[in-house]
Amino acid sequence: MSEESYDAIVIGAGFGGSSCAGLLAKRGLKVLLTEKNNVAGGKAMSLAKNGFRYTAWVVIGAPVDGNLYQVVLDELEVGDLADLVVPEGAGSIYRTPAGKYVRMPKTSSEKLDPGVIFDWLEIPEESRDAALQFFANMTLMPPDQVGGLRGTSFADFVDAAGIPPALHAFIVSLCCDGMFMVPVDTLDAAEAVTSLQAIFTRGGGIFCKGGYGRVAEACCEAVRRYGSEVLMGSRVKRILVEDGRVGGVETDKGTFRAPIVISNAGIQPTVLKLVGAEHFDKSYANYVRDLVPSYALIGHRYFLSRPVTDAPFGVIFSDGSPWTLDRFNRACAGEASRQGVLYYEVPSNYDPEGAPEGKQMLMTGSFCPPDPNLSAEELQAWACVGEEALFGAFPDLEAAIESKDFYTARSVSNATRDSVVPGAGGETIGLGQIVGQCGDQKPSIRAPICGLFYVGCDAGGSGIGTQQALESGMKVADEVERYHRLHRRATS
Ligand SMILES: Cc1cc2nc3c(=O)[nH]c(=O)nc-3n(C[C@H](O)[C@H](O)[C@H](O)COP(=O)(O)OP(=O)(O)OC[C@H]3O[C@@H](n4cnc5c(N)ncnc54)[C@H](O)[C@@H]3O)c2cc1C
Repeated sequence: MSEESYDAIVIGAGFGGSSCAGLLAKRGLKVLLTEKNNVAGGKAMSLAKNGFRYTAWVVIGAPVDGNLYQVVLDELEVGDLADLVVPEGAGSIYRTPAGKYVRMPKTSSEKLDPGVIFDWLEIPEESRDAALQFFANMTLMPPDQVGGLRGTSFADFVDAAGIPPALHAFIVSLCCDGMFMVPVDTLDAAEAVTSLQAIFTRGGGIFCKGGYGRVAEACCEAVRRYGSEVLMGSRVKRILVEDGRVGGVETDKGTFRAPIVISNAGIQPTVLKLVGAEHFDKSYANYVRDLVPSYALIGHRYFLSRPVTDAPFGVIFSDGSPWTLDRFNRACAGEASRQGVLYYEVPSNYDPEGAPEGKQMLMTGSFCPPDPNLSAEELQAWACVGEEALFGAFPDLEAAIESKDFYTARSVSNATRDSVVPGAGGETIGLGQIVGQCGDQKPSIRAPICGLFYVGCDAGGSGIGTQQALESGMKVADEVERYHRLHRRATS
């Protein structure tokens, strides 16, 4: 059995793990990046099928200006391996109270223009000044005031503004539901306002040709170019702990030793499965067990005989879309409508090689619980409300379907993190960015075992999914480099 030694081992080549491994390799550490799948990218991996290429599910990047995909790619000098694109003309669709589906007018810039939005959402003239004031206050709020919102729910913040229902649905469902995948009355207001400021001032809607997985694949290539190693198709079964410090990992391809292990596998699988709760103080293990994940997306990939839309992506929503915790729980119990917001993406409308000539693939996502063990009936109940909204917005679509793939929380869990806590594993983001789990109350990137770090959406970052994971990758790389310098020991 191999017993090779490294300065650091990174478990998982998601956006957090691959960026962190690339940065550490560039800074001269001898790194092993080990990934259980045969492709990098985790929750934003790329897939290809029958001449179509795409991110595995709807993944909309934001903000555009100063996005961390480009920052990391440039830092690692692999910008040529991932082609980012900002398509014109998002295709968001508002379902009016009268049941009409109305597409947002095209604007010349990807940045949001309140006047255009107010017209589209039929905001009455008499409410526009207050609505504009709300937009301005939120967008220009200084950082210390935003910080003061920490611990307040976004529902409390937005409800206090008394904005019209359509604008409320726009802010909550079009923007926040998808960015955070948690009910608005649990969402941390500081986290939400920071991200809304970013998309309103720096744009939203950036993609990668060939799927977002290309960004993580480029980071893996950087690991190799800087002289370190990537081991794909290699699952870590156990993180070795000796005398309260990590010693390496045991994988299905051998045992590898390092004084530093950085886990992108999720904090709950890392603590409760890969290390084992017995190695932690009981209260820490219980704290980890109690952490609350984001919700999941469920949806389809529709492979179409002909193009049905020119929109690269969009959101279908109505005044009734916003999720509250109570409505979600009642929907789970079958006592309230499961209809929420629906996201869609059409890769060939921003990537000329996204589909074979004359064809189109449109994929969707709508809320469902993160439990990978939902019954077939429950899955069907969550999925069919999404189809209802989609076919309402695109009446020509159903007749153009040649085949469709269905993905669920189980698909996401199988492709990314193990389910080790009942009801969790298929979450879209990672830990929910809810009151009590953000800012200072987010888990530390350092575990209470020497040499063990977490990277990815569960620790070290903030903001929207993929950006959050990259921010964590950068911060963890800084922290681990410092730790390595202070605790350097000879490796062989
Ligand atoms: C359906 C869906 C839609 C989304 N939409 C958006 C969006 O619109 N915009 C956006 O920015 N974000 C979106 N996200 C969220 C975003 O993709 C994630 O938040 C982000 O990619 C998570 O990155 P990560 O590094 O934290 O972890 P992950 O992506 O979960 O990566 C973890 C990696 O670790 C590997 N791993 C786990 N356990 C082991 C083990 N034991 N051994 C070896 N390897 C292991 C996994 O295979 C995986 O590759 C979406 C996610 C999903 C699922």
